[in-house]
Amino acid sequence: MDPKQRIIELVNLLNQYSYEYYVDDNPSVTDLEYDKLLRELEQLEKENPQYILKNSPTQKVGAKAAPKFEKIRFVKPMLSLANAFTKAEIEEFHERIIKEGFHPSYVCELKIDGIASSAVYEKGQFVQGATRGDGEEGENITANMLTIKSLPKTINELNALEVRGEVYMKKSVMDQLNSERETEGESLFKNPRNAAGGSLRQLDSSITAQRKLDLFVYTVVNPEKYHLSTQMEAMAFLIKQGFTVNPHYRLCQSIEEVWDYLQSWKDKRRELDYETDGVVIKVNDFTLQEEIGYTIKNPKWALAYKFPPLEVETKLLEIVFSVGRTGGITPIAILEPVLLAGSTVSRATLNNEDFIKERDIEIGDYVVIRKAAEIIPEVIKVNLEKRQNTKPFVMATNCPQCGSTLVRAEGEADHYCLNEQCPGRNKASLIYFASKVGMNIDGLGEKLVEELMNRGFIKTITDLYRLENHREALMNLPGMGEKSVNNLLIAINNSKNNPLAKVITALGIRLVGTKAAKELVKYYPNLSALKQARLEELMNIKDVGPATANSLVGFMKQNSSLIDELISLGINPQETKTAKQSDILKGMTVVLTGKLETMTREEASLLVEKHGGQTAGSVSKKTSLVVCGSDAGSKKTQAEKLNVKIINEAEFKALIGE
Ligand code: NAD
Repeated sequence: MDPKQRIIELVNLLNQYSYEYYVDDNPSVTDLEYDKLLRELEQLEKENPQYILKNSPTQKVGAKAAPKFEKIRFVKPMLSLANAFTKAEIEEFHERIIKEGFHPSYVCELKIDGIASSAVYEKGQFVQGATRGDGEEGENITANMLTIKSLPKTINELNALEVRGEVYMKKSVMDQLNSERETEGESLFKNPRNAAGGSLRQLDSSITAQRKLDLFVYTVVNPEKYHLSTQMEAMAFLIKQGFTVNPHYRLCQSIEEVWDYLQSWKDKRRELDYETDGVVIKVNDFTLQEEIGYTIKNPKWALAYKFPPLEVETKLLEIVFSVGRTGGITPIAILEPVLLAGSTVSRATLNNEDFIKERDIEIGDYVVIRKAAEIIPEVIKVNLEKRQNTKPFVMATNCPQCGSTLVRAEGEADHYCLNEQCPGRNKASLIYFASKVGMNIDGLGEKLVEELMNRGFIKTITDLYRLENHREALMNLPGMGEKSVNNLLIAINNSKNNPLAKVITALGIRLVGTKAAKELVKYYPNLSALKQARLEELMNIKDVGPATANSLVGFMKQNSSLIDELISLGINPQETKTAKQSDILKGMTVVLTGKLETMTREEASLLVEKHGGQTAGSVSKKTSLVVCGSDAGSKKTQAEKLNVKIINEAEFKALIGE
């Protein structure tokens, strides 16, 4: 593929993953997968620096602070860390420093898999807590940090002090919360990092308090103010002030010692009650750190070594097929149960037909399965030496749920069941609809959805809003009583108040996730408007693109009556922000010219329309307004000649209240 095209594709994909990871605390791919794509992008950018995009994940830290929180600007940016996966990469890091004439000792610290956070003290009192956000601006989470027991609320140091560290959730706490959530039918936390992120970034701090978060501190900002000259001294200072520092840090005099430290934690880390995804290696001396310096994203004096993922071998007994909400068929490996990373694994995903064929996986093979930071493990390879009496894999030709013929579109890896009425698809759609990312209906988990479907109470999502009619029968279901039925019906009814973006996400339209949904509501104020969205219009929206636009239009066409039914049942949220965009440009003809920085020309046109105006391609006496980006040419000159009002992009945005 053309490198420019691939760079654009990777940037879009990685930004979508980052959003799910940092903002939604709900990643859809493993860190390993993410890191692999990021490396591909880094390599392509190195070979083609002219194509580096401003919004590339290689050029920025994390993701922007979510609008629901007040923003906090850091006195010093909160950076990320460069990653290393091999011994050679660690040696390279060391060589680079040596080449510059430095001979450092290093401090090794366990890399805690949590949420980078900052805590500010004034006159010995904790006054402000923030997440890292995009490194320049974080989210104000002071109230939530106050609920963390291991964060001292007062310290002896009376000078203003900012410390940074990792808010995390203990594995044992997550297990406990998950078992409670399972009984409640709530979705389970995928891993302690997501659990910590979701808990810390709550608007209601009483929820955070229930999640029993913890904190390890490892950074003193502006350490010279406290006469600290090394990281070792900073750690001792932090302990003296009452902060909890991870006790396993160690000073290493050589890179060999660093490597020994890494090796010693490779397996031992599993015994800890918190997740570590690696080791952070830091130059000990602060003066040296400053001399070595920083890139736009990382300190050059530190490196995060990531541990290899956990792997284990077991026998593949059978391959079954599951049906997803969009009809996608996933082959699932049924395994001889095996202990991996503290839990028994008996199923693993095989992704798709190509994945199995490329790895030459057969039924009866011994396979290596891997678990990164995710709950669902993956089969990664076959142990061919042990192959005996295996059966070749045959891809299903018919849907395991409804029997209809499966279709594999050209250029796609997945097979699909196209039957809109397929009970397997309906079940998956219903589970997704009710899930946390969807309508967030408390108490309506996978098991209950299955039960309600089996009893014939629900077939599609609209049936949920008619469940009230089965109140009596519901009370007779196993494990259900008056109280749980009441709670369930209240939760279903309350879900009608979800904002439009959540409802759109909940519909489970292929390629329309949280991010696209949030973008769509900027242009379409309600479901009826979205139902009528035109393909060309959608394609011009940033973060939507042709494939998503096609999928959305196709869905709306096929599900027109379902959308009408939802609306008539009262699931009809109005996006006030979009709806408000109305009359400011009424009766005005606007000409757009030059290069706009924060939006495409098409997006700007849509905005003009949404605010009651219309756009024109050339400037005449009838033109009310010319919006000028950079490098504007003849249209600007013409406007000046005709005395037509000219504004820049920022003024345009201010005018329409964006
Ligand atoms: P990072 O997690 O690779 O390393 C930097 C972070 O390490 C720091 O910000 C800090 O919070 C943390 N840290 C923990 N212990 C520390 C210690 N003792 N000293 C210093 N720092 C310590 O970088 P990142 O920018 O937070 O995240 C990037 C990584 O996140 C990626 O490499 C990827 O693995 C993951 N990610 C995954 C997805 C996904 O969809 N799965 C998406 C985006 C990012």
